[in-house]
This record gives sequence, structure tokens and C-alpha cells, in this order.
Amino acid sequence: MNISPFINEAYLDFSKPENFNAQKAAIDEARKKFGASYPLIIGGKEVVTERTFNSYNPSNKEELLAVFSKGDVDLANKAVDEALKAFETWRYTTPQERAELLFRAAAIMRRRKLEINAWMVLEAGKNYGEADADTAEAIDFLEFYGREMLRYGDKQPISPLPGEENELVYIPLGVGVIVPPWNFPFAILAGMSSAAIVTGNTIVLKPSSETPMMGRLYYEVMKEAGVPDGVLNFLPGSGAEVGDTLVAHPKVRFISFTGSMEVGTHIYELAAKVQPGQIWLKRVVAEMGGKDSIIVDSDTNLDDAADGIVAAAFGFQGQKCSACSRAIIDEKVYDTMLDKIKERVEKIRVGPAEDNFRMGPVISASAERGILKYIEIGKNEGRVITGGQKAEGDGYYISPTVIADVDPMARISQEEIFGPVLAVIKSPNFDESLKICNNTIYGLTGAVYSNNRDHLNKAKKELLIGNLYFNRKCTGAMVGGHPFGGFNMSGTDSKAGGRDYLLLFLQAKTMSEKIK
Ligand code: NAP
Ligand code: MG
Repeated sequence: MNISPFINEAYLDFSKPENFNAQKAAIDEARKKFGASYPLIIGGKEVVTERTFNSYNPSNKEELLAVFSKGDVDLANKAVDEALKAFETWRYTTPQERAELLFRAAAIMRRRKLEINAWMVLEAGKNYGEADADTAEAIDFLEFYGREMLRYGDKQPISPLPGEENELVYIPLGVGVIVPPWNFPFAILAGMSSAAIVTGNTIVLKPSSETPMMGRLYYEVMKEAGVPDGVLNFLPGSGAEVGDTLVAHPKVRFISFTGSMEVGTHIYELAAKVQPGQIWLKRVVAEMGGKDSIIVDSDTNLDDAADGIVAAAFGFQGQKCSACSRAIIDEKVYDTMLDKIKERVEKIRVGPAEDNFRMGPVISASAERGILKYIEIGKNEGRVITGGQKAEGDGYYISPTVIADVDPMARISQEEIFGPVLAVIKSPNFDESLKICNNTIYGLTGAVYSNNRDHLNKAKKELLIGNLYFNRKCTGAMVGGHPFGGFNMSGTDSKAGGRDYLLLFLQAKTMSEKIK
């Protein structure tokens, strides 16, 4: 196969009227399909259930987008059975065939990009640019993992031994359960699922209940690309209801999860228990939460730092595992920085994602409640310099909120809020900033703004952070260039979009034949 080197998918420029209008038209097109019903897909067959659940538009909470059939314990077991059956043939397909499936799917995503973006704007509340970056990342994952499978499928270097012919091959694991979050509802779902499939495994995909339509679109793309029946089983439903059945199933070989620390640690624990009839130790990949900081040194470009902090704290309403939720600022520039941050945040307009407001809604009523609760806690832990309340509109809108003078051990400095809330912490010097930065249970992303080379080097050595950036914001990791995953309670550091990732879905088999 003659394959060009991997390059990242280009983003659409929505400041160009033709792109903006095309995206708007795609949203109108999606609107015509509102209220349609979608089945489960098990063993390639549509399964319609009596019980259903709805997907609503967080920008306009009464607006029903789609109705989904709902998986239960029996259907979860059935989905594992079908995946097991399909594994018997899918496991013996060649890496080339499987890589080609991903390349075809990437091409289909490119063709359907505006449609995928449109549903993401409507279902997740992303603005156009954020939605387009999410779809582009999904395309990148497919292109990257397709190439990676070809690399792992190639002859592997091992030391020669006299009189023997030795080889090492990577083979798939078996049936995997894929459990993605709603916040990168297409990219992460497609990345985790496609990595498992391209390595020869078969899967049960349970999309987030907040964004089932994104899972449906991924299924449609893969079906069109030719994924065989039973390789990708699509099981919308409640994680609380079917999660344990899937995770504890003795025939499930691995679980690939991205989401909260609470659910991730529960899955890790449950998967560790060997069930009757189980003949392996399950593998768990669990990528979890973050409490990410940007450090601002006294000697740095303060405007760049303020731009970076505000972009990373409030992009997609702060609902990114990589979002900056703490700014740790040297006392010499603290007051100036507060002014600069406040000035920028007060320019952010909040409104419906489909009208491409810079900030849209948070995902759900319960997210809104949780974030407002933290804002109340924050009012006692610091000084609100802007925001601090719900914003107007028919969706789950919250004003971008900045709380200054926060103690490093305060709750809003330690707990993941997952919303548009930034805690600002005053630090006496750079060494102390490093200590504060390392003082949570997490270790996902972070950034340092400094002109001081010694300080940058010290930060490189001492910060325990999976994705660490210098003189730029801490969000926006690119497939291939910034393999992604965090330390400590941020998860298993799987480094999605990097060269180690596919190994998590493979096992190595060594074969040695005596030849004389
Ligand atoms: P979540 O509440 O943990 O849900 C994630 C997924 O787990 C959903 O599909 C959910 O299904 C499912 N689930 C719930 N209970 C389950 C159970 N008992 N067994 C199996 N699955 C279960 O997380 P979220 O709110 O979707 O996502 C936000 C979190 O993800 C944040 O903490 C964020 O930091 C983290 N995140 C991390 C990364 C990373 O790379 N480290 C990337 C993105 C997001 P239901 O929807 O049906 O409940
Ligand atoms: Mg919704």
C-alpha cells in the first residue's frame, strides 16, 4: 500500500462567509430530521426497544433532537455475544484491510463534515470552530491509527538467534467495551472505537447519554465504509444501568473508558475482579479528569498569557479535560494580569451554539446545577471579579466566571468543576508556582508562560503533567504532535494520538522455528 505521511486535517475558517453560511445551512438541514428515532445495532441488526430516551439541544432545552432505543442488561449481553461471534473472523483480517476501512471512514467523515459539525453544535452546544476541530480530530485519529496499524503489522525487529527463525507479531485481544464522554463527542468516541477495531478487536460501543447522535453518526460512517456486522455493536443506554454488566462480563477482554474519575475508578475496580468463566486479566484504559493550571512568571508577555488563559479556560464553556481551571500568577504581575483577564472575559458573549456565540451552553441541567454550586462555594473561597451567575436564555447558560485570591488548597482549586469557572491564585515566586501546580490529585495538562530559560527548564523537570505546554495555552492537543493522556488520577496515560496507543489494544506473540 502506498500511503502518504500523516498530516492533520485542516480547520474550516468560519470568518469566511461561504463557510459560515454552509455550516448554517447544514444546521437547517439537520433541523428537518429533528425527532426521528434511532435503534440499537447488534450483530448488524437494528433493535428497537420499547423504552427510549431523548437527546435535547442544550442551547434550547425544550428542543427535542432525537429519540433513541435504550439498551438493557439482556441487550448488553446479546451485544457481547455478537461481538464474540464476529471476532472469530475479524481477528484474522489483515492489518491492511482494517487500515483501509479507517481510511475510507475518514474520507466519508470529510465528505459529511458539515453535517457532523451541525449535529454536534445542536447536541453538545459547541460553536462552529469547536465542533469543526472535534470532527477534524476524529478524522486525524482514523488517518493516524490506520497508518499505525500498518506499522504494527509490519515485520518487527528482534535479535536473530542461530539455527532459528524468530518473529514477533501483534494480535488483537478480543471483545472490547468502549465508553466515551460527551465533551469530545465525536473525536474521542471515534478515536477509541476505531483504535480497537483497526487492531482486529470487536466492540460494544456505549455512547454518552448526552450525545447519542454523535455515536449514531459514527456508526453510519463505519457502516458505509464497510465495517462487517457484529464488529461494531452500537448500544445507547444508561451507563449506570448497563455499565456494570458490560464491564463485569467474563468474555469481555478490555474496557476503554474516557470520562470522570468517579466512573473510571469504579470501572477499574470492577474489571479487576476475575469472574467465573473468565480466563484472562482484563485490560482497562481509563482516561479521567483534570485540574489544569497555567503558570504566569513575572518575566513574560502578559498579553499572550492572558489570551492563553482565557482561551483555555472558556473554550467550549470550560468543559474540556484540558481546560485551564487555575491561573497561578506571580505576585509581581498579579494585579495587571487580573485586569487583563477581566477585560478579555467581559468581551465573551454567551448564547446559542447554532448562532456561533463564542460561548454556548453547558451540557445539561445537572451540569448547570453542579457548576453553579461550585460558583457559590467559590464566592466564599475568593473574590468574584467577573461573572458568578447564570446567564440569560433558554439554554444552560452560565456567565464566564473568574474568582481571584483563591487559596491553593481551596475546593475550587482542587476539584474538577468542568465549566466556565477560573480560579486565580497569587504566588510569591516561581518555585512556589511549581509546587502549587503539582498540588492536586490530577496531572493532565498545564502551561507555563515565562521568558526565563532556567524557569522553563525547571518546570520541564518538576511538573508532573502528561501534556505540558510552554508559552501557549494548555488546550488544543493535536493528533500525532501532542499524544494525549495524563498522570495520577487523570488516568492511565494512554497517549491517544501517539505511537504507543495501539499497543493498548494488542498483544505480542513470539514465534520461533528451528531451521537446522
Ligand atoms: P462520565 O459521567 O464519567 O461518563 C462517561 C461515560 O461513562 C458515559 O458514557 C457514561 O454513560 C458512562 N458511565 C456512567 N456510569 C457508568 C458505569 N457505572 N459503568 C460504565 N459506564 C458508565 O463523564 P462525562 O461527564 O461524560 O465526561 C466528563 C469527564 O470526562 C470529565 O471528568 C473530563 O475531565 C473527562 N474527560 C477526560 C478526558 C481525558 O482524555 N483524560 C477527555 C475528555 C473528558 P451515561 O452518559 O449513560 O451516564
Ligand atoms: Mg442534550
